[in-house]
Amino acid sequence: MEIHVITAFPQTLIGPLSDSMLKRAQDRGIARFFLHDLREFGLGKHKQLDDYPYGGGAGMILKPEPIFACVEKVRETHRVDCPLTYLSPTGSVFNQKLAVEVSFRSHLFLLCGHYKGIDERVRQALVGEEISIGDYVLTGGELAALVVADAVVRLLPGVMSDIDSADTDSFQTGLLDHPHYTRPESFRDMSVPSVLLSGNHQEIANWRREQSLEITRNKRMDLYKKYMDL
Ligand code: SAM
Repeated sequence: MEIHVITAFPQTLIGPLSDSMLKRAQDRGIARFFLHDLREFGLGKHKQLDDYPYGGGAGMILKPEPIFACVEKVRETHRVDCPLTYLSPTGSVFNQKLAVEVSFRSHLFLLCGHYKGIDERVRQALVGEEISIGDYVLTGGELAALVVADAVVRLLPGVMSDIDSADTDSFQTGLLDHPHYTRPESFRDMSVPSVLLSGNHQEIANWRREQSLEITRNKRMDLYKKYMDL
């Protein structure tokens, strides 16, 4: 998968892209990241990217010219023809289902906003879809782009050593994950449930499912009702 990210703050992405799953995916040639620095397309000698909003009010707006120029350059240079995805609080809320859908794409083209957001003409002419990572407002789209990229890239075959691990994560089945234990068997008077030491795979599977159901019912009644079709 090729992931292109347009951002005025590429430094924000560099650390997370150099570690853990995102690094492994790149080392294994499964995902390639391209960070396109919007500042290079800024106007004038100060490489201006933002300006005051027409109609007044607080906050600065990302100007259209640098974004159009950057998007067109990326499309031309890298032959990217997939829709442009704008990370925005006004988008569809990202979830595991969407992460799975996106993981089947060969390209992702992400646009990170900043300040008060982007000039509306960018949305009108260039943006194909909008994704929000939740009902709160971030300073910029960079962290949202990382969240989307991480959730998607870890699903790509060959990234995780055991893809079954992703299949049993929270949300993948519609339920929250069950508890996990590792050695030692007893720690500070807390013991591992005996069923997990029994070697009986069917009983272990039943216990895990019951735990998942109970945790989901206690913590996320919305998911539980959906799962149980209530
Ligand atoms: N004025 C915008 C609004 O109320 O919808 C918020 C602008 S926000 C301060 C700056 C940028 O951060 C946005 O353009 C967007 O790219 C990104 N952003 C903020 N919250 C986000 C969220 N929940 N999901 C995805 N991107 C977000």
